[in-house]
Amino acid sequence: MKVLVLNCGSSSLKYQMLDMADEVMMARGLVERIGAAGTAIKHRRIHDNKTYESEIPAKDHKESIEMVLKLLTSEDYGVLEDLSEIEAVGHRFVSAGEHYSNSVIIDQKVLDTLETLTYLAPLHNGAAISGIKACKELMPDVPMAAVFDTAFHQTMPPESYIYPIPYEYYEKYGVRRYGFHGTSHKYVAQRAAQMLKRDISDLKLLTCHLGNGASICAIRNGKVYATSMGFTPLAGLAMGTRCGDIDPSIVFFLEQQEGLNSEDIDEILNKKSGILGISGVSSDFRDVEKAAAEGNERAQIALNVYVQRVKTYIGGYIALMNGVDAIVFTAGVGENDAGMRSLICHNLYNLGIMLDEEKNKTHTKAAVISEEDSRVRVLYVPTNEELMIARDTVGLVLHGTDNAKIEWKPLAGDMMDEVLRAVKRYLKTLE
Ligand code: ADP
Repeated sequence: MKVLVLNCGSSSLKYQMLDMADEVMMARGLVERIGAAGTAIKHRRIHDNKTYESEIPAKDHKESIEMVLKLLTSEDYGVLEDLSEIEAVGHRFVSAGEHYSNSVIIDQKVLDTLETLTYLAPLHNGAAISGIKACKELMPDVPMAAVFDTAFHQTMPPESYIYPIPYEYYEKYGVRRYGFHGTSHKYVAQRAAQMLKRDISDLKLLTCHLGNGASICAIRNGKVYATSMGFTPLAGLAMGTRCGDIDPSIVFFLEQQEGLNSEDIDEILNKKSGILGISGVSSDFRDVEKAAAEGNERAQIALNVYVQRVKTYIGGYIALMNGVDAIVFTAGVGENDAGMRSLICHNLYNLGIMLDEEKNKTHTKAAVISEEDSRVRVLYVPTNEELMIARDTVGLVLHGTDNAKIEWKPLAGDMMDEVLRAVKRYLKTLE
């Protein structure tokens, strides 16, 4: 089954075309500055790495998707003979509140419900709805699924999601912790269980999605027990530009002292804080690390704050779960920054966490990087949210269930992945 995965941001569109018979990516791309002057598209066909880069006239998501469909079927850059080869579309939808705890097929009733949820993440949810409506017009007969960043976290118990503020705000407006990056946390948790040859339902895991945005998730027996992002993705860890947890009174203090309104403060806490805000250098860890190495004190403080926050969550979540079997690092920093992994795991041997510094420096795709006798295994695993969205989409379209309900058994490493793909290819020939 060939699946188009769309991730609509407020002014951007990321996409991947996947052939799910053997789970390979066929093409990927990014449209940026939609609706503004100089909308740009970057498209890559995977098998020969042929790239198309250009400015395009696209006033909205619909025109951007039209352009993507043209590229996907173009002679020079395409991977499809005809649009009819697209058998399903999977949409990333950021926040479903408490409405969906699993991915869903989008019918009119679901679309109506999704429209009522725009307020939960106005920019992202609004953009996703535009994308869904555009696909409905452009490919009316192709089934579509919505995959939610919040869904995986819906298993949290009330003590993990209720805020200590008057309960009526939860009842009236759904003000509670939802958690985000759920698709990524779920993917790397499943992958880690496979790599450890363990059943996910027997494991206590801490998944650390450390990218520009960052969150940590405590997963017990395959279900989320706690997570660091909150009502919005602003909570939890210090991030590239987001502040994470701060004393809420700082907001009122800044309002008064600087004469700022809530929009200004929203902008400061989301876009000008985090390691950018502390260092004044950059939101990119590579720049901040370079500056720190050259003696920039604020850059060093920024990194120290970052590390301390991650350690605080790791320690807290180990206490909540009464232990942990494995810690999994993923996303830009988690996958690529061996130095940061080393700092985070430094001096945690009392918790049974012992990183093998040599293995940590290896640059394979995914690896177990703890010492042989470390009680807690440490891994890094590249995340793949698009594949997860495509898997859920295929599951829903073919079997009426997403992969949350498919039992994931441990496989004997990558060899088994190959065998499974071969079996899937064979089954496909029987269809
Ligand atoms: P997002 O999807 O949230 O935009 P990513 O997961 O792609 O973010 O992570 C991007 C961030 O990862 C960059 O801003 C950068 O700080 C960090 N990053 C990527 N590669 C490296 C690296 N080799 N070393 C350190 N940091 C890295």
